[in-house]
Amino acid sequence: MSKKKVEPIILAIDTSCDDTAVSLVRGEIILVNIVASQVELHKQYGGVFPTVAKQAHRENIDPTVKLALKRAGLKMKDIAAVAVTVGPGLAPSLEVGINKAKDIAIEFKKPFISVNHIEGHLLSPLAKRNTITKNGDNKKKEKEVKKALKTKFPILGVVVSGGHTDFVLIKEYGKYERIGFSIDDAAGECLDKIGRMVYLGYPAGPVIEEFAKKGDENRFKFPLPMTQVKDYNMSFSGLKTFARNLVIKLKQEAIIEGKKGLDKQTVYDVCASAQKGVFRHILYKLEKVLEEEDVKEIWLGGGVAANVTLRKILRFKANQYGIKFRAPYTNKLCSDNAAMIGLVGAKKFERGEVIVKPGELEKIDRNPRWRIGNLI
Ligand code: AMP
Ligand code: MG
Repeated sequence: MSKKKVEPIILAIDTSCDDTAVSLVRGEIILVNIVASQVELHKQYGGVFPTVAKQAHRENIDPTVKLALKRAGLKMKDIAAVAVTVGPGLAPSLEVGINKAKDIAIEFKKPFISVNHIEGHLLSPLAKRNTITKNGDNKKKEKEVKKALKTKFPILGVVVSGGHTDFVLIKEYGKYERIGFSIDDAAGECLDKIGRMVYLGYPAGPVIEEFAKKGDENRFKFPLPMTQVKDYNMSFSGLKTFARNLVIKLKQEAIIEGKKGLDKQTVYDVCASAQKGVFRHILYKLEKVLEEEDVKEIWLGGGVAANVTLRKILRFKANQYGIKFRAPYTNKLCSDNAAMIGLVGAKKFERGEVIVKPGELEKIDRNPRWRIGNLI
């Protein structure tokens, strides 16, 4: 009689930026995914204020871990290992999560797993819903999900967030090569900065997506950057400058016309045109990758992956090349979260990439600039 393999449960923590995130995963299945958001705290600064973030993480971390376990109906004894983001991210923020994970590892004698935050975004499309209901195992659903998720390597991971815009070749789980990246602002950061120019608050990305639906994306033609550069790198600061000059010009025109500021339709058109400009640049470089590299699938992750237009554009391109496209099943897995850290943790646990000796644990330190593909 074949015994069904029960996957180990990983407790995962991410405090890389402004969200205190704790999750419990079983293999690729997300049991709970809790995010204590600090968005309201940082709104007044128009971005993340590191020392404020650290203090909030300190206050939130213990209750968030407790809440995650409670929601999952689990105790520490049920956990196989603890995984935590070690980098990249804000140093003061990372420290809080790492210290908590070390405390858990020591107190409860659990293996410790260091995780790269970008690897989390890369593997986020792998996440599966928890199909186990109170009535028992929903086998049919689980079977369907498993079938749908058979993967072919190499995969092109596209991470588009507030801090990163990366093309990463996933050769196999744990083997990555970053082949392209933004040399300045990240795509999400660029959208946030443009949104700020037209007073959309922080983060502006989701508002830009909504406003873009009501706007004319062809009213203002944003430049296409880096076309003369042969590599897969991107640059968004020129788009930001173009937007700044455009908004200044539009405001001057409005004043001449006797208006107080930009009318609503103009703001919608700026949003639609800016979004088109940012996504057109990503698509241009993505197409270059698809032309020149062996890619079997495209996986999209990161905060901006929540954008439906971006997903549509990438899905369409993948279809044109006859390859699969995947993105996380919920927006909660796009913005920063610990479920994706748990997914990576589960893969590392399977490969035995864990730390068990307290002496080795002491050596683990935050790595704010940890680049994907490099050893820690
Ligand atoms: P992350 O850095 O992964 O936490 O993602 C946050 C970034 O994603 C911010 O720059 C947001 O403005 C951006 N973002 C979130 N949702 C959307 C959306 N629907 N469209 C565009 N950008 C978004
Ligand atoms: Mg992130």
